[in-house]
Amino acid sequence: MKLRLLTLSIISLFLTQFSFSQQYGKMQTFTNLKPYKVDSLHSQSDGEIKNVILMIGDGMSLMHVYTAWTANRGRLWLDNAEAVGLSKTYCLDRLITDSGAGGTALSSGQKTNYHSVGVDSLGKPLESLCTLAHQLKKSAGIAVTCRLWDATPADFCGHNINRDEELDLIADYVDADVDYVFGGGAELFVNRPDKRDIFDELKEKGFQLPKTWEDLAKIKSGKVFAVPYPKDTPVPAERGDLLARASIKGMNLLNQNPNGFFMMIEGSQLDDYGHSNNLDLLMQETLDFDQTVGAVMKWAAKEKGTLVIVTADHETGGLTLLGGSIAQGTVECRFSTNSHSGVMVPVYAFGPGSHLFTGLYENTAIYHKIKYLLEKKMQK
Ligand SMILES: [Zn+2]
Repeated sequence: MKLRLLTLSIISLFLTQFSFSQQYGKMQTFTNLKPYKVDSLHSQSDGEIKNVILMIGDGMSLMHVYTAWTANRGRLWLDNAEAVGLSKTYCLDRLITDSGAGGTALSSGQKTNYHSVGVDSLGKPLESLCTLAHQLKKSAGIAVTCRLWDATPADFCGHNINRDEELDLIADYVDADVDYVFGGGAELFVNRPDKRDIFDELKEKGFQLPKTWEDLAKIKSGKVFAVPYPKDTPVPAERGDLLARASIKGMNLLNQNPNGFFMMIEGSQLDDYGHSNNLDLLMQETLDFDQTVGAVMKWAAKEKGTLVIVTADHETGGLTLLGGSIAQGTVECRFSTNSHSGVMVPVYAFGPGSHLFTGLYENTAIYHKIKYLLEKKMQK
């Protein structure tokens, strides 16, 4: 009897180990067949700060960046960063955070509970960097590749103790302090159980509502709310440089405000492919995000007083680079989880004020540094 039990437990242990290795441990290989050129950029690092662009790679750790760097033959636009720091991502009630609490720390400077968006631990709404920009008479905007009810955009435009309250988070956009929005998720703006037509309400607030990139490209001025897809935007191979185009379009529109602007840009789907342990799509997303960083840095290098910050809310997938070749752009990786992991994430800065982002700090400090730099000019 005892022997039978022992045999059973050995078999179950073997099965557990086996399924673990099936799920996470499998070595995956990716080769970047279309490496891109990267230029050396120099910011106009002196002078007052007018514009701040905060770029978030959802779930992007240093490992993602170094793996993408290897895949692109040893170069990334991120290499142009003029200062680098490390951000501690834990949230108020958990060691391993999510995009709700992780993004709220970036948007509002406060650690909050897991799954909360734009509220403190008691559920009180927090003012995001978009609201701060409006208080300083600046414009504000966001551009993301995910559905707009997803946690990161909601951290900047919504308030809820539960990130799964998708209908409420979409309705929050009507009162959000934004002048430009680009993202997916059109299906929850209309045909809602509460009978509200959020697109109609946004129109009444003075927003133009282009339904395609072509329509958006034609807009020359004014407030824009662009939601060209029912859910997320398509994969990079299908959408091309859409995130870069939508970001630059927003920056050009927001920059018409003589006081400048704040903008949040997210490479949203790095997180999704970290969760699904899909190295191929994860690398495509990371390389797309880096090329968006390149487009934004090039714009910032020409526009005086523009600071670009690139960071993440947490790591996803426990990605580990175990082999490969810089010359061939090949990477061999394993994941260690389908969820988020606990590791500090990098913070890259380019432009005036960059030096403030050097060092080791809490994720909330990123908000406070940006706030300090934005207000510094206004006090003059
Ligand atoms: Zn996630």
